[in-house]
Amino acid sequence: MRRLAVLGHPVAHSRSPAMQNAALAELGLAGGWSYEAIDVAPEDFEARVRAMPGDGFVGANVTLPHKLAALALADEASSAARAIGAANTLTFDGERIRADNTDATGILGAIGQSNQGLRVLVMGAGGSARAAAWALLGDGAAVTIWNRTPRRATQLAAELGAMPAQGAPRVDDFDVIVNATIVGMAQSRGLHAPVLKNLPVDADCLSARHLVVDLAYGDGDTALMQIAKARGARAVDGLEVLVHQGAASLQIWTGEEPPIDAMRGATRVS
Ligand code: NAP
Repeated sequence: MRRLAVLGHPVAHSRSPAMQNAALAELGLAGGWSYEAIDVAPEDFEARVRAMPGDGFVGANVTLPHKLAALALADEASSAARAIGAANTLTFDGERIRADNTDATGILGAIGQSNQGLRVLVMGAGGSARAAAWALLGDGAAVTIWNRTPRRATQLAAELGAMPAQGAPRVDDFDVIVNATIVGMAQSRGLHAPVLKNLPVDADCLSARHLVVDLAYGDGDTALMQIAKARGARAVDGLEVLVHQGAASLQIWTGEEPPIDAMRGATRVS
């Protein structure tokens, strides 16, 4: 059995096992491959990862809070992982560990169109904002970064060659709006979470010419997705991004063309 896993803390909510096992079944690999969720605390992360090849694992996805640690322990890393400074995909080749970052690929795959020359607002300055901004810059977009803590936006923009927002940005000035903050993430789990008013999005200014991407996801549409759809904008949700990052990881491990429809279906029912 070739084992795969997602490592996180917490990880019980992850939709990756359902999505990846559906993909393995669709590819006819379910008899020889499996994918599970493993909760691992930060202090145990490195030892757990190093033990994985011996336990039959060939690869792993890595989610919060382990993405920096995953890159740090790898023997080699893709240019994306190095540039973003974080890894969400590990591949084991004997004792050697390779790190990739498919969050960037996932965002571009979910958008599914060229961003060349488009004006993009990335909201957030954490790990996923780094991946989004790096990917969209590489795709030819002009990227502006806004963050609740402006200093972090300025720092990230300088590092990646993007522009920091000057004060509160106006959505009128952009073609693509990306939410890479935690706003919206927990609302459907009944937890106390920051809500849409914490973001500089004036709903009245969204229109059919906008593309709105929300990395946050829950059981239903986030408030941002609801507003984007109501205003006629193209809306790409966090589950679509999850599907595409997972597909890219699966391709790295198996070399097979990922069955996107099966993955999407499994993600949206679980
Ligand atoms: P992170 O590194 O912890 O960054 C969190 C970001 O949220 C920071 O920019 C932070 O701003 C901002 N933030 C926190 N509370 C806020 C508030 N009350 N108002 C406005 N902004 C606030 O997290 P991450 O890894 O980038 O993940 C961000 C989100 O994307 C999470 O919800 C994660 O689950 C989601 N995600 C989804 C996918 C997917 O496949 N769909 C992939 C990766 C991540 P400060 O700097 O001011 O604290």
